[in-house]
Amino acid sequence: MRPVGSGRSPRSLGQPRRLSLNGGSSWFTGALSDRYDLGTMIWKQFLLGALLCVVAWAQGANDKEVDAVYPEAYALYVDIHQNPELSAHETQTAAKLAARLRSLGYEVTEHVGGTGIVAILKNGAGPTVMLRTELDALPVEEKTGLPYASKVHTKDDFGHDVPVMHACGHDLHMASLFATASIMARGKSSWHGTLMLVGQPAEETAGGAKAMLADGLFTRFPKPDFAVAMHVDNLLPAGAVGIMPGIYNNNADSLRITIYGKGGHGAQPHTTIDPIVIAARTILTLQTIPAREVKPGEMAIVTVGYVHAGTKNNVIPDQAELGLTVRTNKPEVRQQVLAAITRIANAEAEAAGAPKAPLIEHYEATDLVYNDPALAARLKAALEAALGKKHVVIEEPIPVSEDFSYYVAQGVPGFYFTLGGADPEKYAAAKASGTSLPSNHSPLFAPDVDPALHTGIAAEVAVLRELMK
Ligand SMILES: [Zn+2]
Ligand SMILES: [Zn+2]
Repeated sequence: MRPVGSGRSPRSLGQPRRLSLNGGSSWFTGALSDRYDLGTMIWKQFLLGALLCVVAWAQGANDKEVDAVYPEAYALYVDIHQNPELSAHETQTAAKLAARLRSLGYEVTEHVGGTGIVAILKNGAGPTVMLRTELDALPVEEKTGLPYASKVHTKDDFGHDVPVMHACGHDLHMASLFATASIMARGKSSWHGTLMLVGQPAEETAGGAKAMLADGLFTRFPKPDFAVAMHVDNLLPAGAVGIMPGIYNNNADSLRITIYGKGGHGAQPHTTIDPIVIAARTILTLQTIPAREVKPGEMAIVTVGYVHAGTKNNVIPDQAELGLTVRTNKPEVRQQVLAAITRIANAEAEAAGAPKAPLIEHYEATDLVYNDPALAARLKAALEAALGKKHVVIEEPIPVSEDFSYYVAQGVPGFYFTLGGADPEKYAAAKASGTSLPSNHSPLFAPDVDPALHTGIAAEVAVLRELMK
């Protein structure tokens, strides 16, 4: 375990979590010392420092506030990281978060849309603002080598033994939300309104937001005026946050294609119709959809993430299954790609003389997340004030899926932003060598917790205080 406050000092790397005065005091020390005698300079520095402290406090969490809650947040992070749970099975995770939020004075309701939790803190008249974290982990075997790496295995929904890892950073989101909840509960004079914290299950399977809404998230509880969520990734260095006004990500569709053949002996292929060969042709032809069918410049991704077929080298199986993810960012391109997948899967089966057409199941679909541009502009200013201008970056849309779009689809203006998670030194080295750091969902995904968690807390508090000032 990497203890808080030991090891490499984030301050020495110039991380903004220590820079609540927008870059520290060196700039005015230098500027003033040329023109003032020492006594005047110290007095002026004191006044200026005090003023900047007040400004920083009004706009975001100051270092002291974050430091006060950090050890508990870090402990929660490590605990949740070591005990990950799969989508829709986050019972222990939800219970831990619920207990902590309850102890802070929040009114907590559990089992909303399955394992979801809703924590409400009322603080007079004002807007209702929702801050959401995900609860779930992924069936990935952790290979980070961290002292607190997950060793958990469990049975998935199909009864298979699978490893489990917080490979998407949802553990960090939970720790940040808990610390933010604590700062907001302690400092009720800095905001007014209703704070609505949501622990959402099953983000990775895209069912959690839908299930919580179906279970009355916006009817049994106040419908928020704004919905906010944050996601850590390795595309930015720890210490920074990224904003995407307008389109944040892409439409995502999950498909399962079962290809039927005729099984038999591997040495007598002429007596069979080999579904593995049909699958192989199908996979390659599917790649011509983005390359040859979609207009150049339009976003379209067709990925076959798994192929399941066969049991033994000399047995030709009678069916093969493909798992696809499809990403687009325009409705017409989405329809074009989905129609092309159906056409190609059917045609390849027919070309091979398959006994029947493949079964194509479109089992998951999420719409892209749209960040309200006016809201994004307002919160960009608040984040710049809290973290420093150079630590707030405008980013391009990224091809990931996110069911936060379901909340936005209810007519709630949304703000979904990214939190830099990359170790700043590794980030710089990767950039210099033109390589990429492990992405979310990689067995090697390991955000640089300190300072990323500090920045996450400071950013969330800044956003909430701006919306409820
Ligand atoms: Zn993920
Ligand atoms: Zn995620």
